[in-house]
Amino acid sequence: MHALRMALIVQKYGGTSVGSIDRIKNVASRIKNERDKGHQVIAVISAMGGVTDKLIALAKELSNDPVERELDVLLSSGEQQSIALLTIALNEMGIDAVSTTGRQAGIVTSGSHTRGRIERIEPTLVNQYLEQDRTIVVAGFQGITKDGMIHTLGRGGSDLSAIAVASSVKADLCQILTDVDGVYTADPRVVENARKLPEISYDELLELASVGTKVMQSRSVEFAKKYGVKFEVKSSLNNNPGTIVTEEHEAMESVVIRGVSIERSQARVTITAIPDTPGMSGRILGALAEAEVNIDMIVSNIASDKLARHSFTMHTNDLGRAQSALKPVLDELSADAAIETEAGIAKLSCVGIGMRSHSGVAAQMFEALGKAGINIGMISTSEIKISVTVEEEQIEKATRVVHTAFGLDA
Ligand code: ASP
Ligand code: MG
Repeated sequence: MHALRMALIVQKYGGTSVGSIDRIKNVASRIKNERDKGHQVIAVISAMGGVTDKLIALAKELSNDPVERELDVLLSSGEQQSIALLTIALNEMGIDAVSTTGRQAGIVTSGSHTRGRIERIEPTLVNQYLEQDRTIVVAGFQGITKDGMIHTLGRGGSDLSAIAVASSVKADLCQILTDVDGVYTADPRVVENARKLPEISYDELLELASVGTKVMQSRSVEFAKKYGVKFEVKSSLNNNPGTIVTEEHEAMESVVIRGVSIERSQARVTITAIPDTPGMSGRILGALAEAEVNIDMIVSNIASDKLARHSFTMHTNDLGRAQSALKPVLDELSADAAIETEAGIAKLSCVGIGMRSHSGVAAQMFEALGKAGINIGMISTSEIKISVTVEEEQIEKATRVVHTAFGLDA
């Protein structure tokens, strides 16, 4: 009945890709293309762009703190619209397509409302439709608890739905189709010579996401890593190959740095003359946590005078709150303890699993910045990441310098 080597493909289309009737038609014809080649397709889609935000805004007009159970009922309706519309478009093109909500697709969740976690997938109906060789359009971002409550999966959760569906039906290919072309060595708006990566490991993508490169929902990448779902991030508007996200393999380590990433609008707080006794760091960080200040880099040291200094970075928006939270703590710590702040800085991070097996990577980065006359503020590292702060005015230059130093330029 079918061409040989028929593949089962899961394709995820985000809100922008289904954001208008024309875009929905574009998605439908992309799916039709795959069908014409003999492949089976399960499309997992988001609500039309802006719809989820609009629904949240409506609820907020009625209450500052809408009941989360009802928010889930409300927000899941966005995807219920888009799956029906895409299916109608497919039917109109002569494709035997059928839509399923999260519940119909057997997406079972646990956890709490508005941030459900996918527990398992029971794809009975999906498998039945596949056997009938129908094209299936699944609502992303939603599932159902074992007690029948509707859950949404956190913002951007359609990515997670797609990865989980691909895993449950053992798809031959999982594609995340989006408004970016793939994962780049750097933001192409900053580094003209940035290159699209042919492949990247789960860990590298997670690290890049944690330092400002937002390609997809991080939880979905973690899920893909856990269940070994290889996927491709590519554009829904052209046919260029995208970036394959996969388990790391040996050849990947020969590249020292996979990519660089920027976080702007950062601020630094430094507390000096802290007595070097147990419990001090806990007190300081506890106060910040209580004020819901999200701190990022932490650098501490003790000089020969036995006094410690702690520096942290945070988003500039949190600086005021951090200062008020720390004031009372400072008085408690010691009479000499003082606080110093600096806004207008940015963070530059280099990520690559190759760092594990190469030495001198940090030195290479710092030397390149030094030669370019760029001063480094704070430094922090993890196994596969090196981050530094620089003055925000210099961040773009710093990014280009480091991109070149690690041979990432096209
Ligand atoms: N529609 C949901 C959101 O806007 C889910 C998604 O787009 O992935 O967050
Ligand atoms: Mg989205």
